[in-house]
Order: sequence, then C-alpha cells, then structure tokens
Amino acid sequence: MNEIQNPANSMEKIISLCKRRGFVFQGSEIYGGLAGTYDYGPYGVELANNIKAVWWKSMVQGERNIVGLDSAIFTHPKVWEASGHVGGFADPLVECKECNTRSRADHLIEDVGAFADEKMSVEEINKVFDEHRDKIKCVKCGKKNFTEVRYINLLVKSNLGNFASDWAKEPTYLRGETCQGIYLNFKNVLDSSRVKVPFGIAQVGKAFRNEIAPRQYIFRLRELTQMEMQMFVKPEDEMTTYEKWRQKRWQYYLDLGFKEENLKWHEHENLVFYAKAAWDIEYKFPFGFKELEGIHARGDYDLSQHQKFSGKDLSYLDPVTNERYVPHVVETSVGLDRSFLAVVTEFYDEDELGGETRTVLRFPRTLAPIKVAVFPLLKNKPELVAKAEEVFTMLSSQMRAEFDDNGNIGKRYRRQDEIGTPACVTIDFETLEGDTKDTVTVRNRDTGAQERVHISELVSYLMQA
Ligand code: ATP
Repeated sequence: MNEIQNPANSMEKIISLCKRRGFVFQGSEIYGGLAGTYDYGPYGVELANNIKAVWWKSMVQGERNIVGLDSAIFTHPKVWEASGHVGGFADPLVECKECNTRSRADHLIEDVGAFADEKMSVEEINKVFDEHRDKIKCVKCGKKNFTEVRYINLLVKSNLGNFASDWAKEPTYLRGETCQGIYLNFKNVLDSSRVKVPFGIAQVGKAFRNEIAPRQYIFRLRELTQMEMQMFVKPEDEMTTYEKWRQKRWQYYLDLGFKEENLKWHEHENLVFYAKAAWDIEYKFPFGFKELEGIHARGDYDLSQHQKFSGKDLSYLDPVTNERYVPHVVETSVGLDRSFLAVVTEFYDEDELGGETRTVLRFPRTLAPIKVAVFPLLKNKPELVAKAEEVFTMLSSQMRAEFDDNGNIGKRYRRQDEIGTPACVTIDFETLEGDTKDTVTVRNRDTGAQERVHISELVSYLMQA
C-alpha cells in the first residue's frame, strides 16, 4: 500500500503515532508548549541522527571534494548585515482584526490561487492582497477582516555578551541559516586543507527564524535544523555544477526509497537579483506539495558581500592558470525536520497481517531507529531470558537493538512495526536444545515471514535484511 493518497497517513495519524511512540513531543509541553519548537524523543532522535548520517554519507563521505564543518551558532552581527538578512530577511504578516490570528500574507494569497511571495515589496504585496481581500479568510475564525500587510524580520535577537538594558539596539543574532558559517570559513578551509576550487563545505546545524505562523507541525519551526552544502566553483562552471547537483539531489530521494510521484520540481518565479537559478524539490506532505529542499545558483554574491563588509580578501588564486577570482556558489539546502516529516509520511503504512490491521513504518534499514528487537518467548523462563540477553548483547555491539519481554509476542511485533524495526528475533525453546540448538526465529517486518537463523550468522543476516 504505502500510498501518500491513502487517507490513512493523514497528518493527525502521523502526529499521534509520533507522540505515542516517542518520536516527537511538543516543545515545553508541560508548560502548555512553546510555538515553533518540538523535541525529538527516544526514537525520534535515532531517526533524526540516521537522516543526518545518510545525508552526510552522501554529501561528504561519498564526495572527493567536499569537507565538513561545524560553525558557531552565534556570529559577528555584521555577518547578517553583509548577507542581507538584517535588511531583507522578512516575511509579510497580516493579522485578523476579529481574532488576532497572524498569518503569512503570501500564503493566504496563494491559498486563493493567486501568486505572491516574500520577495515582493510591501506596496506590491498589499496591492495583490487588496485585489483578493474579498476571498481571503482567516485560518482560525474564517472571517475576512484583515490589517494591512507589513514585513517582519525573521532574525532572532540575543543579548550575548551585551549587558546593557537597551541591548536590543545592538543585538547578536542567532543564525537564520547555517550557510553563513560556511562562507565565513571559506578561506580557513582553503588554507588548512588540501581542497582546491571546485570544492564544497557541508554542515548540519541549528538555525532560528521568527516565523510568523509556525503551524503545520515540524514543517515550519522557529528552531530548526538545516543540512546545507555550498560548492565553490569557477564562475564559468556555475551552471553546469548547478545542473549536476540538481540531478544528484533528486536521485538522493529516489535512492532513499521515495516514490518519484511524491516529489516535484518547483522553479522560483521571482529570483533575487544576484541568483542565476533557484529550484526547490517539493514533497507531497499530507497537506500538499511543499518545499523540502532548495537548490540555488548564487553567483559570487555571498563571498563578495563578506569581502566588502569584512575588508578581507576572499578571492581565489587558481594555482594552474594564475587567474584570480571570487568563486561562485552552488548551494543545496534541506531542513532536517522537513526531511523527518517527509520520511515518516513516505514510509507510513497501514495493512492487514494475520487478520489484524496494523500500522507500520516501512523505513529502509539505514533509517530505522531500531535495527533489531530481541525477545525471549516467555518472560518467566529464566533460561530463555538468559539466552535472549546474550543474543541482545552480541547484537547491540553491532547495531541499535532493543530488548523487549513485555506482553505477548504478537503485541511486541505490533510495537516494533509501529516504530519501523525491520526485524525481530525471538529466542524460544528450540534455541536451547536439539537439532535447532542456537537457532532463533527472525520475523520480517514487511511480510511477517519467519525464518530460522543460526546465532552465529545472525549479524550478517540482519545487515543484509
Ligand atoms: P519556506 O519558503 O518554506 O519558508 P525558505 O525558502 O525560507 O522556506 P530556505 O531559506 O531556502 O527556506 O531554507 C532551506 C531549507 O530549510 C528549506 O528548504 C526547508 O527544508 C528548511 N526550512 C526553512 N525554514 C524552515 C522552518 N521554518 N522550519 C523547518 N524547516 C525550514
């Protein structure tokens, strides 16, 4: 089954499963929550780590000329002036005059079938909003009585190292995107490692945005994690590099097991002045096709701006041609949290097995939070429990494993199906004696099929499953 069109994987079901099974919790839940923040629970952190690892493997380990970085969240305030974020990183806000609900004006306009985006001037977007005012409804109360559209800057301010009472006048910003740390370290990486243009720097880390309307679960957060890679290239190679990365990033999702019909390209209609091209990969979330990843050809804007604002030379001297130039940038940028939601949506399924309806997350093994669960058939038979503990210890030194002796076997299988564990190993009486001594039952998550496998072959069997 596993169809996105399947009403089974509606948002409510996904949210409920993620909470019930310890994937995602509302941030600060016991205090009533903090909008735009979520916490990843015991299985969520495993899944998130696996998504990061798969991305890192594909972007860094699998590439000869890409290196990693972990830059600070706080940066010099001038960074965000240079990048254009202090002046221009803003979203259009409208407020419902009836119930005070705030919304993104461009999203409300898009919802009635017209075009708008955050790159429009305040006059332009107000004009479009006014043209459609009679159709645009408040998402909460349904009324059509809105304020004018105004822009709100998304940078989150802090008083880091500033003890004055009016610190907000000279704030230090929490980074609004991870890639600025990459531009700041372009020269450091060049001078300290053996890379030569073309080369890339990849980073996974937190970013912070004062999103106007952080709705749609972990899709739009105020505290988010990004996985970004900037490729520094010769100016004339920018567009060929761009096309190469567009193909690679599309293939990445197919290799993960995503269905192609659940992915879609979206070209930006309104490019910022320095950009050569900007396409998003959209995913069919339960609430429709929305941006998952952005792939952009950014010219020399980023390094040139930092060169101008810092006064430091960020040009590159080609060791072969002796040519000096400011490298151009091709960027790929994806949110970890949106990837997480896409992965859970893609692999969520409901089917019937052994006459019972079950929920199953059909994660590929690389992504599964738990790779194998180990069960003694009966909890009250010490010889079964001891053997199961032995097998668990052996397996857990090789892979993330879980031990479970609670309830009947059927219930234990259902629980593991719901968290996406590809295999369950049961130690039964046949494991202890006779011809079948030292063999165990391995049950496959997707088919429910069971096979007897010798303990000595278990690790390699599970690695291939
Ligand atoms: P959107 O148009 O949806 O606001 P964006 O174009 O501002 O996204 P970018 O600035 O290009 O997004 O950020 C790159 C990626 O970071 C996005 O493709 C998305 O996966 C992720 N991302 C951006 N903003 C958020 C957010 N508020 N919450 C979760 N992920 C986000």
